[in-house]
Amino acid sequence: MKDKVTIITGASSGIGRALAREAYARGARVVLAARRKEALEHISKEWNSSSYLNVEADVTSENDCRKLIDETIRKFGRIDILINNAGISMRALFEEVDLDVIRKLMDTNFWGTVYCSNYALPHLLKTKGSLVGVSSVAGYKGLPGRAGYSASKFAMHGLLEVIRIENIKKGLHVLIACPGFTSSNIRNIALSKDGSSQGETPLDESKLMPAETVAKLICNAIEKRKHTLVLTTMGKMTVLLNKFFPKFMDGMVYNHMAKEADSPFK
Ligand code: NDP
Repeated sequence: MKDKVTIITGASSGIGRALAREAYARGARVVLAARRKEALEHISKEWNSSSYLNVEADVTSENDCRKLIDETIRKFGRIDILINNAGISMRALFEEVDLDVIRKLMDTNFWGTVYCSNYALPHLLKTKGSLVGVSSVAGYKGLPGRAGYSASKFAMHGLLEVIRIENIKKGLHVLIACPGFTSSNIRNIALSKDGSSQGETPLDESKLMPAETVAKLICNAIEKRKHTLVLTTMGKMTVLLNKFFPKFMDGMVYNHMAKEADSPFK
């Protein structure tokens, strides 16, 4: 990743913050994007100013995504890597959820990826660069209580696969990265059925894969120009078993998720 101009959305927290630090440590010129600019400034405060750019951007806004790409080109003149990482989650039964929650999930996770990828693509084609989506194991298997989340990640897979195939002869690299459960802020702020943040995580975050490990593995996969990356033993088992025994896995997933604290189903 040395000298590669690398845009990371959702760089103010969790996996995105760890990706920004890892990319910078590997010598990349890093563009950090998120809504909370002060959090980005905190991350980059000791970095060399010629090697990074902080951009305040809400990925649900097409205009902000266009601006993110324009500002990157203005400062660095090229884009080598775009990591679509910004994302939010939810926890509510589909039967009970306010539909605005599903819309917000799609706007952030799916449409944010559409906007940034679309504006970055001409630049990525020039550099034969890498287009990355931070998806999830929930993009392979529907997770109960996460209808909008799983739908947005399945949609990301379809989108990125099409972009990969359309550009198969043009040297574009597309990576779909699927972390398993990772320690971060995502479950604290996940949306409940009425759209409010659920406030606390139902999992013991200290037992989950650290965001720093996820970031290292994603950067390794970018350098090796891998197509797909699935993380954690549970994540790999879920994807593999679901391929051959999808009906059996429906029950396994139900039973596993029902054990979460305050699960909306039993
Ligand atoms: P965090 O909540 O810790 O970080 C989410 C990041 O996304 C923040 O930087 C936030 O920045 C940004 N973000 C959210 N909404 C927007 C928006 N509208 N515009 C711009 N940025 C936004 O979560 P994670 O680090 O865990 O999540 C990162 C990605 O990893 C997500 O796509 C998630 O689905 C995926 N993932 C996470 C897993 C986990 O267990 N943690 C497992 C599998 C995948 P700000 O609020 O400043 O805008």
